Amino acid sequence: MNIEIKNAILDKIKEYDKILIFRHIRPDGDCMGASKGLREILRLSYPCKEIYIVDNQHSDYLAFLGEDDSEVPDEFYSHSLGIVVDTANKDRISNQKFSLCREIIKIDHHIEISPFGDISWVEEQRSSACEMIADFYNTFKDELKINKTAAQYIYTGMVTDSGRFRFRSVSGETLRLAALMLDAGVDTDTLYANLYLEDYDSYKFKAYIYSNVERTENGAAYLYISREMQEKFHLSFEDASATVNSMDSIKGYLCWLAFIENPDSEDEIRVRLRSRFMSINHLAEEYNGGGHAQACGATIHSKNQLKEMIEKADAMVKNYKENNEGWM
Ligand code: AMP
Repeated sequence: MNIEIKNAILDKIKEYDKILIFRHIRPDGDCMGASKGLREILRLSYPCKEIYIVDNQHSDYLAFLGEDDSEVPDEFYSHSLGIVVDTANKDRISNQKFSLCREIIKIDHHIEISPFGDISWVEEQRSSACEMIADFYNTFKDELKINKTAAQYIYTGMVTDSGRFRFRSVSGETLRLAALMLDAGVDTDTLYANLYLEDYDSYKFKAYIYSNVERTENGAAYLYISREMQEKFHLSFEDASATVNSMDSIKGYLCWLAFIENPDSEDEIRVRLRSRFMSINHLAEEYNGGGHAQACGATIHSKNQLKEMIEKADAMVKNYKENNEGWM
């Protein structure tokens, strides 16, 4: 699929001696895996090219994936091909110096709201950007090289963005490409230990979530995590944000939202939205957000907006239940 676009991307990669790879703010496993996996594949395949990831946003729980590269002079940017992975819109690119690059390629799997890039390869049905990088490798495997390190990065994003190969976006192709990465030597024991073991504070916080989750009349679940809560349980903003995943399996509750007060910004509340069967992204888009149909994010600035979002989510579930069958 999209072979002309992929050919055009490979041609551009071959054309440039300098390549910079970019990803989104608040990095997750997919954008980290896709950027680092692509860097590794390109470094192995074209050892004479200079290929870097310059980014100062990191994530504690993904620290095991290792460091990025040091800053480069502005002149380096202006001679470079920029490849932006896993990022739907320019505003969310973590290193805003991307705009200095001579040409930009976008590789993404989010719902496209504001297109950008001289070449844009977007496949919204893909379970992860890492799946697209694996597909890119597979398409040109006579030319490109892979090793265990690259495969480990890519597999990390495939696992994290697909809920361990559980989400609807997972296709036969996802598993075939994942198999290709496993064949390249992924160490799943180490990977899962790094991704899914949690420290005791976070573990205990789950008990709080389970006993305090709020529910609307028609089937939306939600929880508000204040700064005080984050302090009480010694949670990083990242740990607190993971709350959303603990509300995902209540029968009859088709969407769930976590509202997390940002400890670094007085009036900012991060919203993480998830759903099953129905879509929830339109609600996120109303509040400065976006993402995927069933996993998206937004930012709000008041309790009024919070109340509004909950009411709208409840109405969306009601509407879905009234007009559809087969949900549980
Ligand atoms: P999160 O809840 O932050 O993990 O977000 C779920 C998905 O939605 C991820 O793929 C994010 O990249 C995307 N996303 C989160 N927040 C936003 C936003 N404000 N605008 C656009 N996409 C977002």
